[in-house]
Amino acid sequence: MGFFSKDIKSLDDLFVHTLRDIYYAEKQIVKSLPDMVEKATNPMLREGFQKHLEESKGHVARVEQVFEMHGETAKTVNCPAIDGILAEANEVAGEVDDKQVLDAALIAAAQAVEHYEITRYGTLIEWAKQLGRDDCAEVLKQNLDEEKATDKKLTELAESKVNLQAAE
Ligand code: FE
Ligand code: FE
Repeated sequence: MGFFSKDIKSLDDLFVHTLRDIYYAEKQIVKSLPDMVEKATNPMLREGFQKHLEESKGHVARVEQVFEMHGETAKTVNCPAIDGILAEANEVAGEVDDKQVLDAALIAAAQAVEHYEITRYGTLIEWAKQLGRDDCAEVLKQNLDEEKATDKKLTELAESKVNLQAAE
């Protein structure tokens, strides 16, 4: 189903479509994070990726909860945006030999992922409120808060350690 599919007639349809998009994205992220844990050298980065892998499994579960609350079966819709971000991350990581530079590349890739999630959850929360589903907005907000915290931690790690080491 394309973004401008005729199946999307209302804000409610758009909400459900976008929920399917982030559901797909979260599942792809859960598949990709173990590889990033393995590639990371800095112990804090490894630990951070590992922690966010566990959190991301929780994100999948919360999105499933929102589907259920909204009376929809949990389904995915292909999301070329997240596929592209993850493919590019893999490609760049494959080209970097220096371990410290690779860590910087992994952080950059992870932040692109977080920002994608942040934009999707931000939109979903506003639409949920508009649709009178403050309960759904509340659950989605928990995912958004964890994405924002992860993004912030990645920035701190890059600024305090990884970028400096990569530049040496
Ligand atoms: Fe997530
Ligand atoms: Fe995330």
